[in-house]
Amino acid sequence: MTRTASDTMPTGTTGGTPQILLSHHLKQLKLPTVLREYEKVARECAEAGVDHPRYLLRLIELELIDRERRTVERRIRAARFPAVKSFDTFDFTAIPGLNKMLVLELARCEYILRRDNIIALGNSGTGKTHVALALGLSACQKGFTVTFTTAASLVSQLLEARDERRLLKLQRDLASVKLLIIDELGYVPLSSTGAELLFETFSQRYERGSTIVTSNLPFEDWTSVLGSERLTGALLDRLTHHVSILTMNGDSYRLKQSAARRRNPSSGAEQNQATPNVDPDTGEILTP
Ligand code: ADP
Ligand code: MG
Repeated sequence: MTRTASDTMPTGTTGGTPQILLSHHLKQLKLPTVLREYEKVARECAEAGVDHPRYLLRLIELELIDRERRTVERRIRAARFPAVKSFDTFDFTAIPGLNKMLVLELARCEYILRRDNIIALGNSGTGKTHVALALGLSACQKGFTVTFTTAASLVSQLLEARDERRLLKLQRDLASVKLLIIDELGYVPLSSTGAELLFETFSQRYERGSTIVTSNLPFEDWTSVLGSERLTGALLDRLTHHVSILTMNGDSYRLKQSAARRRNPSSGAEQNQATPNVDPDTGEILTP
């Protein structure tokens, strides 16, 4: 038997208050913005003499705009960024060696359509994570699915999944995301199984999706993290086949900021909240 509308409607379809029914139907149709706005927009349209099709158009446009915003927010949550950072707060003059034109071109996300990769290399504190987060945010805003992780965390997730016999599922998830960001390759040396699993991740994503890798190590030192020259070679081969490389060597932004704060303590209000006399990269106490 086919379901009729009256099966799902509350009693009193033909009489009673239309608002109650309308609210019920709009919830069922998942149109929360129409529900929230229809009375207000109706008043505005009546005052301005706007006809019914235009009233409906206005309402539907509001729903679409809100729906897009909710989808972007959902993608940002799903990406699991440790912080939300954008290029609006990135000072390109602080790192003159970085190709600003290239970065802004990458922020348009066309590389994701080409399934190209990005590698950001440079010493600690130069904004690699900031740039990776900003590129991730742009990708979410442009409609791509994103996952952010660090190399160490990714490898421990892979090892754990393997022990719990759900490696295939995790690998499938990692292979299907449009942009995978792997931060901080190089801080922690990996076990040989860990390195193999990381390699498999790159392999499975090869020409299927884009990967951003940030590292404090130049390519020639990647063997010290991955443990084997053969594996490093094969991994670099896949990762660098279609790649943009961002060279981010320079003074640590964090260090420069804390030095500036020490020179002028009152100017620190809008700056990072890092402890002024401790190098956040090394934990070293800096002489005042
Ligand atoms: P890295 O990942 O290279 O070690 P981060 O991206 O973590 O460096 O940068 C350290 C801190 O300094 C972060 O809070 C970041 O937002 C900030 N930062 C770094 N470079 C810049 C920059 N050029 N403009 C604005 N903030 C920056
Ligand atoms: Mg970093």
